[in-house]
Amino acid sequence: MTLNVLQIVPGTSVDGPGLRTSIYLAGCTHRCPGCHNPASWDFNAGTLYNVDELADIVISHEFNVTLTGGDPLQTPHPEALLHLIKRIKSAGLNVWLYTGYTLEEARQIAAIKPILDEIDTIVDGPFIESLRDTSLPFRGSSNQRILKLNGEL
Ligand code: SF4
Repeated sequence: MTLNVLQIVPGTSVDGPGLRTSIYLAGCTHRCPGCHNPASWDFNAGTLYNVDELADIVISHEFNVTLTGGDPLQTPHPEALLHLIKRIKSAGLNVWLYTGYTLEEARQIAAIKPILDEIDTIVDGPFIESLRDTSLPFRGSSNQRILKLNGEL
C-alpha cells in the first residue's frame, strides 16, 4: 500500500493544537480560488511512500499527527490512508484531518466512512476566499469548522 506525499513537517504548530507532525498528501479536485498550494492538486506529485514506512517515520517523531494536502479524503488509496491512521492511533497519537469536503458530504462517500470512524478531529469545507479570516486558529476561511469526531479534540 502506498501514498503520494508532498511533504512531512515534524513539530509544526499551525495545523492543530500543540506540536504536530503534518503529512501533506498529494491530490485535490476542489480547486478553491485562492488555494494556498495549487501545486498540491496533482495526485502524482511528491514522493511515493510505502504506508508502513511512512507510519514508522511519523510515529518516531512522537508528535500528534495532522493529515492535510491536497485533500487526504480524495486519495485514490483510501485503504492505505486508513491503515496509516490505524497505525498512528495504535501508537497513542491523535489525528486531525483537513478536507475540502464538508463533513456531511464526506459522510455520503462509502470509502471515506471508515476513515471518519478513526480520526479524532476533522477541519472541513473548501477554502472560500470571500470568507478568508486570518484571525481564526487552524482555518483559512470562516465556513471551515473544527469538528471533534472521536476521542480528544
Ligand atoms: S481543498 Fe485545500 S488543497 Fe484543495 S483546492 Fe481547496 S484549499 Fe486547495
